[in-house]
Amino acid sequence: MSGFSIDRRGLLGTGLGASLAAGLGTGASAANPAPLAPGRTKADFAGAMKAFRGVVGAEWVFGDEEAVAPWSKTYIPDPAHQYKPVGAVCPQSVEEVQEIVRIANTYKQPLWTVSTGKNMGYGMTAPATPGQVVLDLKRMNRILEVDADLGTCLLEPGVTYQQLKDYLEENKIPLWIDVPTVGPIASPVGNTLDRGVGYTPYGEHFMFQCGMEVCLPDGRLMRTGMGSIKGSTAWQAFKWGYGPYLDGLFTQSNFGIVTKMGLWLMPKPPVYKPFMVRHANMEDVPKIIEAMRPLRVSNLVANCNLMMSASYQLAMFKRRNEIVPDGAPLDEASLKKAATANGLGMWNTYFALYGTEQTVAGVEPIIRATLTASGGEVLTAAEMEGNPWFHHHQTLMQGGLNLDEVGLLRWRGAGGGLAWFAPVAAARGVEAERQTALAKEIVEKHGFDYTAAYAIGWRDLHHIIALLFDKADPAQEQKADACYRELVTRFGAQGWASYRTGVNSMDLVAQQYGEVNRDFNRTLKRAIDPNGILSPGKSGIHP
Ligand SMILES: Cc1cc2nc3c(=O)[nH]c(=O)nc-3n(C[C@H](O)[C@H](O)[C@H](O)COP(=O)(O)OP(=O)(O)OC[C@H]3O[C@@H](n4cnc5c(N)ncnc54)[C@H](O)[C@@H]3O)c2cc1C
Repeated sequence: MSGFSIDRRGLLGTGLGASLAAGLGTGASAANPAPLAPGRTKADFAGAMKAFRGVVGAEWVFGDEEAVAPWSKTYIPDPAHQYKPVGAVCPQSVEEVQEIVRIANTYKQPLWTVSTGKNMGYGMTAPATPGQVVLDLKRMNRILEVDADLGTCLLEPGVTYQQLKDYLEENKIPLWIDVPTVGPIASPVGNTLDRGVGYTPYGEHFMFQCGMEVCLPDGRLMRTGMGSIKGSTAWQAFKWGYGPYLDGLFTQSNFGIVTKMGLWLMPKPPVYKPFMVRHANMEDVPKIIEAMRPLRVSNLVANCNLMMSASYQLAMFKRRNEIVPDGAPLDEASLKKAATANGLGMWNTYFALYGTEQTVAGVEPIIRATLTASGGEVLTAAEMEGNPWFHHHQTLMQGGLNLDEVGLLRWRGAGGGLAWFAPVAAARGVEAERQTALAKEIVEKHGFDYTAAYAIGWRDLHHIIALLFDKADPAQEQKADACYRELVTRFGAQGWASYRTGVNSMDLVAQQYGEVNRDFNRTLKRAIDPNGILSPGKSGIHP
């Protein structure tokens, strides 16, 4: 329905392929010290790259160290500099993807698939194991279909949230998108495949996915759900199809390359009313969760709430040394002072009501009473007018786009270090209280700050801990690496494992889910991908 072509200049504009501008970038034969995949020779690699060039054109295959650099950039701690691809290839069509997969099988050249590759804080486009060529699907960016009546769409992997939103607005289609906080540059397909979240009632993205087309590791195409039925009109309407439900197999995995994905879109409600609940003390964590859980479970509050600590909020727009001097601990008194000066509490919980005048007016008093009883101040746009934090969340909870949160990367120096640690718990106040205490103890021991939020789901909590460090400082990067490993290990020992993790910790987290699960995944992997060519190491699944 909508084509949006990316030319090489387009890639340069987004910071990709900068070295290509200098005339470099297609040479599989040029020097590149990045290690090859285990057992592969230079001749294998050169053969694969030559064959890739035959499929997509020399200008879309990148092999020189400098040309590949844009795909090597990460924000995560990587003191040994080990998470680097050896090349990149950018197809424009499903047929090209299939051909690349066949070549990869011939040369046993592993491919690391990304859609828009903006997995910031999880590794961006860097692969989990050495010697992989990034299969970058950014150029496959057509919006194939939008059904305004059913509220569905069918997308290629390179479509960005911005592109989809623009399309809906230009065509006056009254449907909302649901975005992660880095929406403008990220993709619905990539985010959903890593089981990301957003903040409207459609925020649990995989729950609102419907139908996929997948290039299997042998190059065949498979459609899930109703997609393989000739003449079916329900591919984007009915999720389950027949027999085992397959779509989950292609999320956080390396069992296929998703070339099309269906999603449900939320009808724009007549009334949208955002709220912020301000709590004054760090110790208020359990009260907030206990108050919110019944509202979420009953769906009276239908969107995923973000319960943001003062430090996380301040880090979006401030530098650390505006709050405390360099080298000083981020003490509670200084934090509270800065938070108060900016209209924030120590915890700030954002939710919204969606409906008609009548339904919103009916529900609001119940919610106000519950949250006020928890000790919170319930605030709306009327009181928070002009507050940049409220404005940010007001935008997000209606599927609006901005990049305010990227400011986190400048909290400590200009080096831009960030690793997300996201352990899951049941939505119980006592668990959140224990998690907060444990996280604070560990990060502060390593010299970092507790900059965290809770995403309050239907019955779960994602504790989203932003480990912020200066990646330009090798000593800090080393400490951040140690800190991250301690977080994963000690939370895991308490039964709190991550819902998603970066390439720096995929094996560590996979171990926590147990040997039977790992063995099952490995058995599947070996059966469908005997040459181990698709994203080895993703989620700790190795050939
Ligand atoms: C400040 C900040 C805030 C953030 N906020 C959020 C947030 O609110 N919610 C959230 O979810 N994330 C958030 N993130 C993390 C991340 O940036 C987003 O999840 C982003 O959407 C992921 O990048 P992407 O969409 O380009 O996906 P990609 O990087 O393209 O893909 C993500 C992963 O999915 C798999 N994959 C992608 N495409 C395919 C395919 N076609 N076939 C098979 N597998 C594939 C790969 O394993 C890939 O590594 C945030 C990051 C930062 C820095």
